[in-house]
Amino acid sequence: MASIEAKLQELRQRIARACHDAGRSAQSVTLLAVTKTFDATYVRQAFDAGQREFGENYVQEALAKMAELAPLRAEMQWHLIGPLQSNKTRVVAENFDWVHSVDRLKIAARLAEQRPAGLPPLQLCLQVNISGEASKSGLLPEEVAEVAQAVAALPRDKVVLRGLMAIPEPAADSESQRVPHRALRELLSDLIDTGLKLDTLSMGMSADMDAAVAEGATIVRVGTAIFGHRQL
Ligand SMILES: *Cc1c(COP(=O)(O)O)cnc(C)c1O
Repeated sequence: MASIEAKLQELRQRIARACHDAGRSAQSVTLLAVTKTFDATYVRQAFDAGQREFGENYVQEALAKMAELAPLRAEMQWHLIGPLQSNKTRVVAENFDWVHSVDRLKIAARLAEQRPAGLPPLQLCLQVNISGEASKSGLLPEEVAEVAQAVAALPRDKVVLRGLMAIPEPAADSESQRVPHRALRELLSDLIDTGLKLDTLSMGMSADMDAAVAEGATIVRVGTAIFGHRQL
């Protein structure tokens, strides 16, 4: 099996190619390495290969890896991309750099209240249920504008709203994959038109990242294509 370093290199080339095809600069897309279910030794290997941004779904699992890799903490950025319940906001406010999965004002308000003084503001995205499935988490597209205005009004030394995140329904071909990514981009653009200063579209995973980059993704969240298949 190819090493994590080789996989990362391959992925950076894939991102560069997708950017080139879309007439975008390769620097306009950040690669988030999604390490859920992979232990700290995998994170370490990715770090040694130059990776600095890491995504986790489960708070406790992430905290354990942060503790194991404490000497590297200052050089890493940890992003929470999984569901966040209100009883976990404090530990998230104290330990993460980004939260992509904000799906209600109450969560953002708690994060703002609980972000410790002395840390840079926590960077937030609103998660949008862009494919409109009843079972998926995230705000409905029509709910986003009101919540975005309210979150953007929270103290900016504590939390900064950066943009939108989505996990679209899987689709087989790239044209179908582009549909929800395009919808998220248009939603972001509508918010920007109302005066909000937003710059982040967190969309695209191993299977659909090329389509996401074509539609303007600025952060792609990739696990399998770097670390292999997860054992659940
Ligand atoms: C697991 C996960 C990913 C990574 O998915 P892969 O298909 O392994 O690349 C990205 N985003 C979220 C929210 C995830 O839960």
